[in-house]
Amino acid sequence: MDYAFQPAKPASIAISGTNARFPVRRIFCVGQNYLAHVLEMGGDPTNPPFFFSKPSDAVVENGAQITYASETENLHYEAELVVAIGTGGAQIPDTDALSHVWGYATGIDLTRRDLQTQAKDLGKPWDMAKGFDQSAPCGALHSVADVGHLTRADIVLSKNGQVHQNSNISDMIWSVPSIISTLSRYIKLAPGDLIYTGTPSGVGPVVAGDHLKVEITGLSELNISII
Ligand code: MN
Repeated sequence: MDYAFQPAKPASIAISGTNARFPVRRIFCVGQNYLAHVLEMGGDPTNPPFFFSKPSDAVVENGAQITYASETENLHYEAELVVAIGTGGAQIPDTDALSHVWGYATGIDLTRRDLQTQAKDLGKPWDMAKGFDQSAPCGALHSVADVGHLTRADIVLSKNGQVHQNSNISDMIWSVPSIISTLSRYIKLAPGDLIYTGTPSGVGPVVAGDHLKVEITGLSELNISII
């Protein structure tokens, strides 16, 4: 293929226990997937969760130093379980959904909360509130062969050593199979797609100098610094 210029290499994340990397195709995210977070955001708990997305090259690795995002005065962390898709498909039934999972990782959905609030108020898109550079930190990926499927696991975010989010992924409104099945009704999932599955309550701001750590039982920690 003759390109006008050399295309960028695909974004990728580390895989625990190997030098091979997982190429990232797209990043989908679930909004308002834990009841306590819906309530802390002033959302309507009778509304179902929903999807938004981030560019694949928003992904950054464990240990990253992340520059405080431009155009915001309220950059927030959201600790999330990340599901990596290994086998694509459309119209995937709930009962078959887990067979499409390659593995799991710890993640953070960094959010320009002030821009998101403005966008909600004005009925505008969330793209610049959610899909900016370095907005998708992701820890090392663990294969299903390595850790199995996660249904009950503590998810804990600490900022500068203090716990701010502490929940269990079993509290998700849409379980991992429901997320995969529902998303696959809207788009055809492909190998390399990542799904950030939503955050529990306790979201909050960061400032330059902060250190964030996310722990999900069974997975590698995710550590990032804001500079
Ligand atoms: Mn989120």
